[in-house]
Amino acid sequence: MVVDREECVGCGACVNLCPRLAIRFIDNKSYIDQVSCIECGTCRESCGVEAIYAGCRFPDIVLLNFANNPYADDTTTI
Ligand code: SF4
Ligand code: SF4
Repeated sequence: MVVDREECVGCGACVNLCPRLAIRFIDNKSYIDQVSCIECGTCRESCGVEAIYAGCRFPDIVLLNFANNPYADDTTTI
């Protein structure tokens, strides 16, 4: 899940509901750690202003792995 920080009003309702402790308060708004989040949806259901939405966390992880992959530029096929 992803928090739209423009929409988040900082009520804190979502923070302590996360089973993965993936939600933190930064500058009085929620932020979801994309690596820890398991997309269970609990936080989204708790948000009264619909500031939390399903976001694919995998592109960031893929990009991170891609950057660390020594074979990233290897275009040969096996
Ligand atoms: S979707 Fe679930 S695991 Fe992810 S931040 Fe929300 S409550 Fe936590
Ligand atoms: S429940 Fe919604 S408005 Fe409240 S802190 Fe979480 S994301 Fe922000």
